[in-house]
Order: sequence, then structure tokens, then C-alpha cells
Amino acid sequence: MSDTLTPSAVDTAPEAYPVSARNRVKRVHERGSYDHETVHAILDSAMLCHVAYVIDGQPYATPTIHWREGDMLYWHGSSASRMLRHLKAGTPACLTVSHLDGLVLARSGFNHSVNYRAAMCFGTARLVEDEAEKARALVGVVDRFYPDRSAGLRRITAQETKATTVIAMRIDEASAKIRAKGVGDEPEDMDFPAWAGVIPVRTVIGATETCPKIPAGIERPATLAPYAEGAVLDAALLATQRIYEG
Ligand SMILES: Cc1cc2nc3c(=O)[nH]c(=O)nc-3n(C[C@H](O)[C@H](O)[C@H](O)COP(=O)(O)OP(=O)(O)OC[C@H]3O[C@@H](n4cnc5c(N)ncnc54)[C@H](O)[C@@H]3O)c2cc1C
Repeated sequence: MSDTLTPSAVDTAPEAYPVSARNRVKRVHERGSYDHETVHAILDSAMLCHVAYVIDGQPYATPTIHWREGDMLYWHGSSASRMLRHLKAGTPACLTVSHLDGLVLARSGFNHSVNYRAAMCFGTARLVEDEAEKARALVGVVDRFYPDRSAGLRRITAQETKATTVIAMRIDEASAKIRAKGVGDEPEDMDFPAWAGVIPVRTVIGATETCPKIPAGIERPATLAPYAEGAVLDAALLATQRIYEG
């Protein structure tokens, strides 16, 4: 590791990720933070992430589903996936999550912006080879999102387990960046006669569509209550993460 990536003691507070040249937020630095609480809340309120890595000099950013246990991030997929086969090798990776929270329309095109919460996590991806850890992860990928669901499902077969690769990455360094405010117009533009404001954006749960082949008498479980119609997805995912953590 080069000198420029040496963590700075000044920024390393308890319950915060170390800060180095790699994860220090430089551009609009006041929007950045490194504490576990902020970074984890952004990760946990999303199901989708992008995992970035380089193969033979070519960068890729693959969208996938992630889940978190402490400082460990997990993602999984088909054993035939190029991404997963490559990441098995212990590859440096960067997992990002971003939430679009609002459209910010200013009095000039230059000052248009968006409200957002984003997290970038750096570490080294590793293949989960330990059988017990893999079995726990394959339960986790279901139960983390849908509380206690695994116990009521047909058990995973040895072949399905073999066909699935699980990757883990300890978060070595991370940063969060948040914009949560109104229009940032210049004082001299304030009287300009153009509409300006924030249009909030939310991802909301829709009406359930039960599979028509379900035998009579099987109802949607009460444990899925966080995913009630009209609920905000962020909040549902945070609630189910807390249940998963016990
Ligand atoms: C939904 C969304 C829309 C955006 N739209 C724009 C846009 O149109 N134009 C634009 O310039 N920027 C936009 N951004 C901000 C963008 O993500 C970058 O923060 C910004 O471009 C500065 O990049 P940089 O590499 O120069 O940052 P630097 O500050 O040089 O990055 C240094 C380190 O800071 C941290 N960091 C930087 N950005 C983020 C982030 N977003 N989240 C978490 N950690 C971060 C990382 O650890 C990174 O390695 C948007 C962000 C989001 C989430």
C-alpha cells in the first residue's frame, strides 16, 4: 500500500472507518462522513448496490443485491458468473449504494442538483468457502430481507448450494456522502423569475400480487408487514435489517 493510502490517526474516531487518501471525501467534503452509523444506514436501507472491480485493466461495475453483517458485506450469484469467479481470487473491490432522494431545480441550469445518500465501501473480496459460513449466508440472503422466511421454505439442495457462489468483503474503509437540503442558488439569482424547488423522490411498495398457483389457505405472512402497500422501501429494509440483527 502506498504512503498516500496510510490511514490518518486524526480522522480515525471510534465507531468510524479509517480515513485515507482513498476514501476521504474531497469534493464538497462537508457532505462526507465515515461513522459506522451513517454508512451502515445507507447500506441497510438499500437492496441494490454496484460492485466495482478491474479485470485485465478493464473496469466493471456490476449491479447486484448485497446484505451486511457487522463490517462484512455479502453478495452472491451463479457460480458461472464472471464477476463472482473473478472476485474469488481476493480482488480489491468497491461496493457502492446510492439513494436518489430529491430533484433540486434551481434558477440556473448550473445550480440544478439532486438530494442523495450514498456510500462507498472498499475492501478485498473473498470467496466464502467455509461450509458453515456459506450455509449461514444462504439463509441470510433470504432472512435478512424477509424475516424468518427460510424456516418455512423447501430446503436448499446440495446442488443448489454448489451452483451458488457467495462473496464476502470486510469493509476496510468507507465513506458516506449526503446532500439533504434545498436549492443552492446564488444570492444574485434569487429574484430571477424561474420556478425553483425540491421534488422529493421515494421508492414505495406497491400492491401485492399473490402467485395464482398458491394452494388455498396460504396467506401472505405477517412477518412481511414492513412491506405493506404504500410503505417506503428504505424504511422497510432498515426495519428488516434490525429484525435480522436481533
Ligand atoms: C444520485 C447521485 C447523483 C449525483 N450526481 C452528480 C452529478 O451530476 N455530478 C457530479 O459531479 N456529482 C454527482 N454526484 C456526486 C458524485 O457521486 C461524486 O461525489 C462527485 O462527482 C465527486 O466525485 P470525485 O471522485 O471528484 O470525489 P472525491 O471527493 O475526489 O472522492 C474521494 C473519495 O470520496 C468518497 N466519495 C466521493 N463521492 C462519494 C459519494 N457520492 N458517496 C460516498 N462516498 C463518496 C469516496 O471514498 C471517494 O473515493 C451524485 C451523487 C449521487 C449519489
